[in-house]
Amino acid sequence: MPIKFRSLLITSITALLACLLFLIYPHIVTSHDVVSKALARKQSAAQSSSALAASAAAASSKQNSDSVIYLTFDDGPNATTTPQLLQTLKTKQVKATFFVTGNGPDNLIKQEYDEGNRIGLHTYTHNYAEVYSSIDNYFNDLERINERVIAITGYHSKLVRVPGGSANTISNSYSPNIMSYILPEIRNRGYQYFDWNVSAGDGSVQTNSDQPYNSVISELQPHRDNVVLMHDTKQTSVDAVGRIIDYANQNGYRFALLDTNSYPAQQR
Ligand SMILES: [Zn+2]
Repeated sequence: MPIKFRSLLITSITALLACLLFLIYPHIVTSHDVVSKALARKQSAAQSSSALAASAAAASSKQNSDSVIYLTFDDGPNATTTPQLLQTLKTKQVKATFFVTGNGPDNLIKQEYDEGNRIGLHTYTHNYAEVYSSIDNYFNDLERINERVIAITGYHSKLVRVPGGSANTISNSYSPNIMSYILPEIRNRGYQYFDWNVSAGDGSVQTNSDQPYNSVISELQPHRDNVVLMHDTKQTSVDAVGRIIDYANQNGYRFALLDTNSYPAQQR
């Protein structure tokens, strides 16, 4: 083969290869880009699903680095027992959350608030037949207690505890499945509802303060949020609070006030 022809052939092949490379290079880049993006999406999906799994695990196990107690008191204020409780809380320098009703004197709700406790909304009437007769009646009752708290304190509470708790078999007996409509609507209106994961057991009759004390300390668990249900209308519970606080202080717990971001200990 003549040298001239051979060099022309090599030049042509090189040019052809260069053209081919030029043509396919964007595809290589693009496909690499697609793979990178797909990988990134996969990683991001994996990260968000692991974040979701982590938050779900945290929500279900409620594991904390510290041990927290939210003391909550329902059904007050009561002219006899609430002042005793407020004195104990003041002496022990602990704040609590009060889910109040339409009962009791205004000045006690004011005192609860002024002394740095948190006010939540329980129910105005605490009359199950009335409150759970319809969805409208539930929210009329909630707005009545909301207005009472605002009138006394100026504070617009976003914390709700539905009477009987959210897993309420009582509400079912008045209006079947009414809770399924009430709970989402509570959130739609900007409130958060709270149940409990520790109970003083004082919904039933107790004869001495050992009963609520033993019930609470046997259910408390370290390294989680403990939302403790008590009633400041019950003398036995009010009598037990000082000892419960002492036990908690000796066992590494700290006390906190509920807010809308707190663990709600919801039963449903
Ligand atoms: Zn109640």
